[in-house]
Amino acid sequence: MSADPGDDPHVRLLLGAYVLDALDAEETCRVARHLQGCDACARAYVEVADASALLALLRAEDLRE
Ligand SMILES: [Zn+2]
Repeated sequence: MSADPGDDPHVRLLLGAYVLDALDAEETCRVARHLQGCDACARAYVEVADASALLALLRAEDLRE
């Protein structure tokens, strides 16, 4: 069991940061390349991107707390 993205051949753990543009150039490149070749991660990316678009709409209100 490892939650270390460095050990993961897939990039799911990086997708959130990827969507938010929070990765460094090397990681962004790695994720982009992986998404082209991996259906499962590409689907996960779409979900994360959707969720993050929703979050962006809610964020201003919700983070005020
Ligand atoms: Zn993958």
